Amino acid sequence: TTFTSPPLDTHLLGNIDLAHYKNPTPVQKYSIPIVMGGRDLMACAQTGSGKTGGFLFPILSQSFLQGPSAPPANAAAYGGGYGRQRKAYPTALILAPTRELVSQIYEESRKFAYRSWVRPCVVYGGADIVSQLRLIERGCDLLVATPGRLVDLIERGRISLANIKYLVLDEADRMLDMGFEPQIRRIVEGEDMPKTDARQTLMFSATFPRDIQMLARDFLKDYIFLSV
Ligand code: AMP
Repeated sequence: TTFTSPPLDTHLLGNIDLAHYKNPTPVQKYSIPIVMGGRDLMACAQTGSGKTGGFLFPILSQSFLQGPSAPPANAAAYGGGYGRQRKAYPTALILAPTRELVSQIYEESRKFAYRSWVRPCVVYGGADIVSQLRLIERGCDLLVATPGRLVDLIERGRISLANIKYLVLDEADRMLDMGFEPQIRRIVEGEDMPKTDARQTLMFSATFPRDIQMLARDFLKDYIFLSV
């Protein structure tokens, strides 16, 4: 098996080559065709399984082909930030529980979005918000975020989720263990976020207890269940 079935975008394949990845891991082998096929996914996979590539590769591949999308026509209705401050309209959002994890996913995103139009950004709590705002202002297509800090930035009018096409919840069980469910629901069920039929949603979790099953029921549409 290689990364060529189903075919990923050739620019992405070049970046995968630069990372010296030769073959997909099992979770990548199964998740890439599911996501490329436009389906929602609930995947039970551990850290170290290669799950980051499992969601990043198909999202980047499809994004490279689709090209950037303009802010929605009614962008003004969403506020447009304060004064001259720009508001970001990412097309992909990845939520994860900790600073370490979002930073890792961000580094992977930079590696695989290299020399493409996709500009990755990262925001997390417990760190200076000003430098994170400066990063977002330079352009933000793929946002990796911890839930609390993202709610803060949405409330400040600096990020709109109105353009989201891809939503990923990584390590969903850990996010619930850390008490992030209210913030996650605020983000995913907020009026800004496109509804389930207008976005593709992927959830990754090491375990599949009842509270995760409920999130899957509420956030995913007609999803495929993958356990590796
Ligand atoms: P993850 O589970 O996504 O955190 O990935 C675990 C580690 O495996 C990371 O260091 C990745 O860079 C590496 N990795 C992921 N996918 C592949 C692959 N297809 N080939 C080689 N290394 C990989």
